[in-house]
Amino acid sequence: CGIVGYIGKEQAAPILLEGLSRLEYRGYDSAGMAVYDQDRDTLSVHKAKGRLKVLADQLQNGAAVKGTVGIGHTRWATHGAPSDVNSHPQVSQSGKIAVVHNGIIENYGELKSFLMGKGVSFLSDTDTEVVAQLIEYFYQGDLLKAVGQVLHRIQGAYALGILCADYPDQIIAVRKDSPLILGYGDGCNFLASDVTAIIKHTRRVGYMEDGELAVLTREGIQCYDRLLEPVDKEISYVDWEI
Ligand code: GLU
Repeated sequence: CGIVGYIGKEQAAPILLEGLSRLEYRGYDSAGMAVYDQDRDTLSVHKAKGRLKVLADQLQNGAAVKGTVGIGHTRWATHGAPSDVNSHPQVSQSGKIAVVHNGIIENYGELKSFLMGKGVSFLSDTDTEVVAQLIEYFYQGDLLKAVGQVLHRIQGAYALGILCADYPDQIIAVRKDSPLILGYGDGCNFLASDVTAIIKHTRRVGYMEDGELAVLTREGIQCYDRLLEPVDKEISYVDWEI
């Protein structure tokens, strides 16, 4: 339902919580985040059914989570009942790849059967977990390539934020038929399903096109088309108040 991503020099967790709180008006049943901690070299995932406050209290308003890159989500369940385990981020079997998702993966059933046939075990009842597991299935050291392969196989509507422990200095974003915007900061960059989540930090935004991918680093954002050819993104200035 709501997505926020941050990569920069500040601690990510408080920024993600604050951004998610701006999306509360959309309604949701659970919330979560994945943050990569450079010092400990770990990708940690935190999620909880219920109000954002439940997650915020667990994380001491973010103080309990270290790391300067992360993705956050508020969920409006479509596939799988609201629960801690069905909350996002959904994580691949190895724990290496975390995904937040708005929308519905229509063909998740057949993809799940395919992956289970390959020995992949699933933890949740969500359509979203299929995306995390499928990225891992295709992943052979090139994350963007694996994401590109997944895009050719999933059907439906999606905005995705992807964080991988092997690529601690980037977030990958993808969208089709579900809104996702890029925020350009100074030494930091943002991802959000709605500009209100990040306007406090930057007013320079890029609107992702259907089928587009983006790689966010601290230095910049590079967009690609569905064939992974680089494309230039026009930056707009948001001048309204919230
Ligand atoms: N279909 C996904 C789920 O139920 C995402 C729902 C949403 O957009 O929040 O987990």
